[in-house]
Amino acid sequence: MAKGTKIDELNPRTTKYEFLGPPGAFVISIVVPIVLYALYFGCSEASGGHPPSLSLASLRENVGSAVGSVEWWRSLWDWDASFAYLGWYAFCVASWAVLPGKWVEGTTLRTGGKLKYKVNALPTFFLAISIALALIIRGGPQAFTFIYEKWVGLVSAALLMSLVQATACYIASFRPGALLALGGNSGNVVYDWFIGRELNPGIGCFDISTFNELRPSMILWELIDISMVCEQAVRRGGFVNVTASMWLVLAFHTLYVFDCMYNESALFTTMDVTTDGFGFMLSVGDLVWIPFTFSLQARYLAFCHVELGALGVLGVITVNALGYWIFRSANGEKNEFRNGRNPKNLKYMDTKRGTKLLITGWWGMCQHPNYLGDLIMSVAWCLPTGFSTPITYFYPVYFTVLLVHRQMRDDEACAQKYGDDWKKYKKLVPYKIVPGIY
Ligand code: NDP
Repeated sequence: MAKGTKIDELNPRTTKYEFLGPPGAFVISIVVPIVLYALYFGCSEASGGHPPSLSLASLRENVGSAVGSVEWWRSLWDWDASFAYLGWYAFCVASWAVLPGKWVEGTTLRTGGKLKYKVNALPTFFLAISIALALIIRGGPQAFTFIYEKWVGLVSAALLMSLVQATACYIASFRPGALLALGGNSGNVVYDWFIGRELNPGIGCFDISTFNELRPSMILWELIDISMVCEQAVRRGGFVNVTASMWLVLAFHTLYVFDCMYNESALFTTMDVTTDGFGFMLSVGDLVWIPFTFSLQARYLAFCHVELGALGVLGVITVNALGYWIFRSANGEKNEFRNGRNPKNLKYMDTKRGTKLLITGWWGMCQHPNYLGDLIMSVAWCLPTGFSTPITYFYPVYFTVLLVHRQMRDDEACAQKYGDDWKKYKKLVPYKIVPGIY
């Protein structure tokens, strides 16, 4: 921090709300857990995972009559699942502490300082997968179906963890000297608790926000998928009989998760880390939403064994490959450029701020080509589930809303950062996510 600068001066009051302010934050905080449970009950083996489960009558049949009963509420909580979840979280923390990793500096904070992050999500990923595989080799697929069987209990445990973390971080943010997020210091308890009051909370060198983003969220997503493959293998008499659709979903998700682990340091320049505080939005998003909704297609295939013909397999692989190519090459172009390299000799424009903006290559086609790739992949992940239920297509629908909203937030942030230069850039690159359309 510059000499003479008081922390209060660095923590101005937030005057502009996002997500429709406190009412919006309140509604999202209530709706997210409801959607998480609804996705389970609306797309479970009991409901057949079929469209009628979306109808009111069917919902009443599957869930409604039971919702009022004490047993139904009790079924949401499971002590075995809770201890297993706690053990899983402890495993992630211990792996972070023990496994080797480079310490990498993040971006410059408003205090002038930089935080250091330990980059070892990839070894944690390999360790977790190895343990799962060792269990399966030793005990067969039935040794790893626990996650399928304890799904609701695990969701509840993860939800409780996200509530505890958001609340503890909110309370801790009132200690003297805490650096707050510019958008999380409104003074409204509900809003600040939801959006995140403190910028990079943690204990010592343990930063909770970056830790949660990859380890207990994405690695758990991978383990859930593996458990779903095991469930199908048990039902179909071994791994050799597991459907191509299930293997495809596992392969696509694994590629995505591995990519995130491999490029862990790219996380430190994202909006989640540099701009957003750590509140319920991030804790529930990382700990519950990512693992338990992104794996929905695999859970559906565990009990609905969709068979794809050779043409179907080829088509789905092509869609995913197209999405991944755009996603990886667009992110690669920007990462190289932001790290001072320009191997493709792309054109760029100078800005008064000193940072250059690419205007050819992927970043000359639209403002967020990486979002486009991500969206195409999200569709490819659902195609293996066929077309007999819309529920497995929940992910691309939700993801489109998230990315359009994120693009608008980034547009505002860039307008502030770059001023008139951003207007100039938008004239040169008018499309936001889909060239020629949006
Ligand atoms: P971007 O990677 O699009 O980054 C936006 C930033 O890039 C801007 O703030 C600006 O920052 C810089 N930038 C903008 N235009 C240019 C340009 N022409 N040339 C160079 N730099 C430019 O957004 P995100 O951080 O939101 O996304 C990162 C990845 O994460 C994406 O691939 C996205 O799909 C993915 N993602 C996935 C989610 C999931 O749930 N699966 C959720 C959210 C994101 P500056 O100029 O300051 O460098």
